[in-house]
Amino acid sequence: MSTSSIPTKPVKAFGAQAADAPLDQLNINRRAPHPHDVEIEILYCGVCHSDLHTARNEWHGTIYPCVPGHEIVGRVVSVGAHVKNFKVGDHAAVGCLVDSCRECDYCKDDLEQYCSTGHTQTYNAPDKHLGTPTYGGYSESIVVDEAFVLRVPENLDLAATAPLLCAGITTYSPLKHWKVGPGKKVGIVGLGGLGHMGVKIAKAMGAEVIVFTTSPSKVEDAKRLGADDVVLSKDEAQMQRYAGKLHFVLDAVSAQHDINAYLSQLRVDGALVLVGAPENPLPVAPFSLIPMRKTFAGSMIGGIAQTQEMLDFCGEHDIVSDIEMIRMQDINQAYERLLKGDVKYRFVIDMASLKQ
Ligand code: NAP
Ligand code: ZN
Ligand code: ZN
Repeated sequence: MSTSSIPTKPVKAFGAQAADAPLDQLNINRRAPHPHDVEIEILYCGVCHSDLHTARNEWHGTIYPCVPGHEIVGRVVSVGAHVKNFKVGDHAAVGCLVDSCRECDYCKDDLEQYCSTGHTQTYNAPDKHLGTPTYGGYSESIVVDEAFVLRVPENLDLAATAPLLCAGITTYSPLKHWKVGPGKKVGIVGLGGLGHMGVKIAKAMGAEVIVFTTSPSKVEDAKRLGADDVVLSKDEAQMQRYAGKLHFVLDAVSAQHDINAYLSQLRVDGALVLVGAPENPLPVAPFSLIPMRKTFAGSMIGGIAQTQEMLDFCGEHDIVSDIEMIRMQDINQAYERLLKGDVKYRFVIDMASLKQ
């Protein structure tokens, strides 16, 4: 329930009422658009593993009911009086952020994801307007300040564009920051939603790409997606092939795994960047880092300007996600398949199913 007195309207959504409860239909309130707001009818929403981590409280701090979803594309159905960049009927997208302080050094530097007073995530964050938690894209519509709304390249398939809003930017941002490009050998660990976007984007940036997967069934796909080579990570002999040879490794694994095995793939001054966020700590041996001056770092999504840059880059290079479309009502089975690494390579919810 809203604790504020501003006008709202009820919309249908899908969410979890508790960590051990399946997701089910519920109603939430969306604010009536303010002068700078865009109201978007949600057409498609990608299913990120973070949705599952949050719905099941694996990172702790989930507020219930929890309505996940931060890979949102849709159609603008109304705009506030001061909105400049969107009009009714436009396609528009929303990613992981719906607000930030807009004043701190990081916000001024287009790094809203690292806002020092705290950004507002699309779901499971305090809603500045309504006093409720924010509710994400598993819903009919969303109202967002235009400063946090993205433009979708017209040449890209709309449903397959949705996963770019998290999986795309989360891989693009560190690949860009660590200057991946021609002449660089790059490892991508875990061929899921993030990993497969990482392969496509790193390839488009001009790097040589090596995929590390636990799944023999994904080897051919990895090559089709653009990988120059594929290493089955459970095979010790294959793990020796690039030992000490990679400039950069992006780790997009959602569960416990041995990080030292991937640090050993790096050459001197190489960096392993963690974007995967398993529930428990990942032990790092000091001598995995020390002898070759290696860097072990993390990276979180990306700022709004860079998210637009990534969308435009994907438009230019014709890059979208490989998707499997599901109905909203299939979300609980989709989560079970996600846990088994059984998605090629992103579930996207056809939100028309929520109207049925
Ligand atoms: P996903 O689609 O489920 O992919 C995860 C992949 O990890 C799987 O496809 C599998 O790849 C591999 N994997 C799963 N279990 C494994 C295990 N026990 N050992 C080794 N490999 C395993 O998940 P996603 O949506 O891409 O998200 C990946 C992670 O990134 C999640 O933890 C998510 O919360 C996090 N994330 C972080 C950010 C950020 O800003 N840093 C943003 C979004 C998501 P193979 O079959 O190829 O081995
Ligand atoms: Zn995500
Ligand atoms: Zn800030």
